[in-house]
Amino acid sequence: MRLVRYDRGGTASVGVLDPQANTVVDVEPESAGMDALIRAWSPDLAERLSQAARGGAGTPLDQVRLLAPCQPGSREIFCVGKNYLEHAAEFERSGYDSGPAQASAGSPYPVIFTKAASSVIGPNDGIPNHADLTSALDYEAELAVVVGLGGRLIAKADAWEHVFGYTVLNDVTARDLQRNHQQWFLGKSLDGFCPLGPCLVTRDEVDASQLAVRAWVNGELRQSANTADLIFDIPTLIATISAGITLEPGDIIATGTPSGVGAGFDPPRFLRAGDVVTVEVERVGRLSNPVVAG
Ligand code: MG
Repeated sequence: MRLVRYDRGGTASVGVLDPQANTVVDVEPESAGMDALIRAWSPDLAERLSQAARGGAGTPLDQVRLLAPCQPGSREIFCVGKNYLEHAAEFERSGYDSGPAQASAGSPYPVIFTKAASSVIGPNDGIPNHADLTSALDYEAELAVVVGLGGRLIAKADAWEHVFGYTVLNDVTARDLQRNHQQWFLGKSLDGFCPLGPCLVTRDEVDASQLAVRAWVNGELRQSANTADLIFDIPTLIATISAGITLEPGDIIATGTPSGVGAGFDPPRFLRAGDVVTVEVERVGRLSNPVVAG
């Protein structure tokens, strides 16, 4: 099932996509928001929603303004650094890496950091270029995992049962801030630095262990890899984070980006106002955002 949040007369509403008719069927009365929907999820609820999607009079998708499918509230977004070998190598070569170098050299410890929840924007929203703060604005295409069943000390073997679904995330980064401040939080968390969407795809729809991840800038392919190449796979990430932090329904885990980011080119190819960045995860969705002055 493909769930969306969208603007319905000025308020956020939850809908189910009918992929055949390409329409959005409103299910807000069932859900009271995406977060509540995830918390209340059950086979019965899923069945009612899919019936609604099949039978409902939907609004054509091109007539609705989609919002980010999840609203993380005050909870930060968990992120993973250097989780594809070629990206780890390009990043360490780039001169923007202030972090420990061992991650790409077989460390058993994934690099875990967070982005501010306030950085989330929706499909087609403008990414502010923050030109007064950064001259090294970069993109990172990523598969994002959305937690369904929360918990602590989740074993790798049980991890998939805790996944609600997937969406697409662009981990926009100010490389100079990332380097200068050493901790990555600031350079990853400026307003508008987390495009998310367009929909939240439930776990039963895709096998996330093998999905193509791509990014384009102004139509030029920059990143192309597969989640099969993740150094630390999804169960390992869930087990690692939940070892000491209780995961909650609706938590988002960005799984890392492949090689081909702007900082990886020589000379670097950073984003400018007027560019359009498109990130895509196979069978999950395609997310486009323009870069705007601001
Ligand atoms: Mg990233």
